[in-house]
Amino acid sequence: MSTRRPIVAANWKMNKTQPETAEFLSAFLPLLGPACASDVVIVPPFTSVPKASEFLRNHPVVGLGAQNMHPKPNGAFTGEIGAPFLVDLGVTHVVLGHSERRQYFAESDAFINEKVRAALAAGLTPILCIGETLEERDAGRLEAVCRTQLQGGLALVAADAAPKVVIAYEPVWAIGTGRTASPAQAQEAHAFVRSVLADLFGHAIAGQIRIQYGGSMKPDNAVELMAQPDVDGGLIGGASLQPESFFAIIKAAAESVA
Ligand code: PEP
Repeated sequence: MSTRRPIVAANWKMNKTQPETAEFLSAFLPLLGPACASDVVIVPPFTSVPKASEFLRNHPVVGLGAQNMHPKPNGAFTGEIGAPFLVDLGVTHVVLGHSERRQYFAESDAFINEKVRAALAAGLTPILCIGETLEERDAGRLEAVCRTQLQGGLALVAADAAPKVVIAYEPVWAIGTGRTASPAQAQEAHAFVRSVLADLFGHAIAGQIRIQYGGSMKPDNAVELMAQPDVDGGLIGGASLQPESFFAIIKAAAESVA
């Protein structure tokens, strides 16, 4: 059990139009009690952010996330969206460096770092995703890969800003595959991530930073994963698309600190 407040985020990826977003939130929000023991974030695709904002702007428990952003605030970057556009819509969180963006859009740690710093400067909470591929794990490179991604992604982030950042440890081999890290594997990786955060920012600050697990988290494995001392919530893809399954995961997170 930890004293950090868990944070559970729904990464919808390229799913849910505006009507589907309204349908989800109409069913989901009544499930949440007024005093949820976990932070919750809904992360729709860009085009559904305005619809989600109608439900979530200034919501006491549920934040509104974006799945990406450009580090520059505006300018000649066709197809991109900078932080001021997100803030304008009531966005509070932004997922950065997701493995799908690293893999399909060749995002580097340096570029992700620019986004992390721009998000912090704009008052957004960055959810920085890191994690190893199966090949890297099998080659014994989990720690080297995660250390490089953390050092690169968090470069030049001031220690006093670091507690605002959320880290999502997402083993790439577990994302969307139905294959989950065991609770022991997750804890081992999370403890390692926290040790790197301590190297970067000191123990006290590392102890405040929340580390989500992501990778096929579902209602039936969430309780055990969330019970691990260094697991502070989850970044949920597939199981966040249904209000009931996402709510069941939030309950597991809340119980882990009860
Ligand atoms: C994700 O996209 O970050 C994710 C963890 O997806 P899934 O839960 O579907 O594995």
